[in-house]
Amino acid sequence: MIILKIGGSILTNKDASESEVDEVSLKRIAGEIKRSLDNSKKELIIVHGAGSFGHPPAKKYRIGEEFEEDEFPEKRVGFCEIQNAVKKLNMLICEAFIDEGLPVIALPASSFITASSKRITSGNLDLFKRYLSKGFIPIIYGDVVLDDDLEFCVISGDQLIQYLAMNLNPDTVVLGTDVDGVYSKNPKTHDDAVFYERFTSIEDLDTFEGTTNVDVTGGMVGKIKELLYLADLGIESKIINAEIEDNIYKVLENETVKGTVISRS
Ligand code: ADP
Repeated sequence: MIILKIGGSILTNKDASESEVDEVSLKRIAGEIKRSLDNSKKELIIVHGAGSFGHPPAKKYRIGEEFEEDEFPEKRVGFCEIQNAVKKLNMLICEAFIDEGLPVIALPASSFITASSKRITSGNLDLFKRYLSKGFIPIIYGDVVLDDDLEFCVISGDQLIQYLAMNLNPDTVVLGTDVDGVYSKNPKTHDDAVFYERFTSIEDLDTFEGTTNVDVTGGMVGKIKELLYLADLGIESKIINAEIEDNIYKVLENETVKGTVISRS
């Protein structure tokens, strides 16, 4: 089984004030996945981020922060606004994938996952297994969920990766983003950032400057933390650049692709 995450940074224009899908990348990635599945049968789960669809409303309503009782109705409608925004993005992604002939089936986190203090505590994955057994590609994405302590919270695609991988024992966990992998600091703002082929500890980062633009779920630092939790369980993952043509195809084909392996050794 392969769990593949496609970052919001690839699928949306995160810097746009309006929610925009990057149609060109989306079509290219759908094509790469199709080409690989045509080569050989694979069990594949796709996770995607919320990008410019989810982060602005999540920030606006400050979902995941504590609030007074009288703010509940406003928070609740904010929760719905976010759920709907990320659902829209998912629909556009599914449309592109189905156009390519990929049998994707959306299983939104808000409809079966709950959390405590922003960590997933329950979510039955039996349906993932059932869909996989029939050759579907289950697809899940960064979403809002009910939280036992905070009422509501945002669950990132990266936390979903961690939860799925912990519970489903995949052979491969890959995250496609818009940089080649993990560097000592943000490579987009620092020319002297050092690239890591293997990343084993958060202390290897020079700075915690991980939050890009409007990302409320932690940017690269948030991603690394989730993947280190997985590494603690002995599950390795790899971050690659999904903006480079054929990287997703190659990684699905088990070919060598530049990237950072997150492990504990
Ligand atoms: P995605 O939406 O693909 O999940 P994010 O936008 O959340 O990804 O995180 C990727 C971004 O993190 C990169 O575009 C990069 O600018 C930024 N970043 C910050 N610190 C680092 C770092 N140390 N190494 C690599 N990228 C970093």
